[in-house]
Amino acid sequence: MENISKSFNGITVLDSVNFSLNKGEVHALMGGNGAGKSTLMKTLTGVYEADSGEIHIDGKKVSIKNMQDARDNYISMIFQEFSLIPTLTVAENIFLTRESRSSLGFLNDKEGVEKTKGLLQELEVDIDPNDVVESLGVGYWQMTEIAKALSQEAKILIMDEPSSSLTKKETEVLFSFIDKLKRRGISIIYISHRMDEIFKICDRVTILRDGKNVVTEKIKDIGLDTVIQHIVGAEMDKAFE
Ligand code: ADP
Ligand code: MG
Ligand code: MG
Repeated sequence: MENISKSFNGITVLDSVNFSLNKGEVHALMGGNGAGKSTLMKTLTGVYEADSGEIHIDGKKVSIKNMQDARDNYISMIFQEFSLIPTLTVAENIFLTRESRSSLGFLNDKEGVEKTKGLLQELEVDIDPNDVVESLGVGYWQMTEIAKALSQEAKILIMDEPSSSLTKKETEVLFSFIDKLKRRGISIIYISHRMDEIFKICDRVTILRDGKNVVTEKIKDIGLDTVIQHIVGAEMDKAFE
């Protein structure tokens, strides 16, 4: 993402932001409340169109004007509020919306179950495709959600504070899942305020402050104090405004 700018009613929310994502990397996006993290991701997923700037994928300029454009470019957002239907099975949730009408025909179709089984096995996720989603722990909901995105061939996954609704144990399961995704070459943008998580699973971090990107650094090269300074510093500035 190059020089992405976005204003609402004359107020600049993103000011020429640059952000890059490597194949198979987990890239943390951090910043105080109101720094512009969600808005930046919404321009990547076609919720908003940027006022200016360019997005390139694999060296090609792409135009993302709506959410379908984002899907066509293999970009998927894992929403905090899950988009799954709790009373349906895992297989139904993954293949229902996209293919049920055209090729599967009915719920619980064998083909859908087999496809889901294959996908979950490939991802080494221990879920039965016939399990009803509401019978699973929230951690597995999230994995089902991610599996659904991957079934739609997503190559870039955006996770907005994914651990906020998970127990410590579920978070551990998610982290080992993220590791598998990385090895498959999936790229992840990980929005979080949790320093411990960022330092554990992310390869690089970008920090936004007042709509500008102030730092992009490899996790192994950035000190905790630098991160705190940029994030807490911005919050302090606000408190004294
Ligand atoms: P973050 O996700 O980092 O907390 P946001 O991207 O949600 O920050 O918001 C950045 C700024 O943009 C905030 O000041 C917010 O009020 C403003 N903003 C976000 N979306 C809109 C909108 N649709 N209309 C007006 N202002 C918005
Ligand atoms: Mg916010
Ligand atoms: Mg936000």
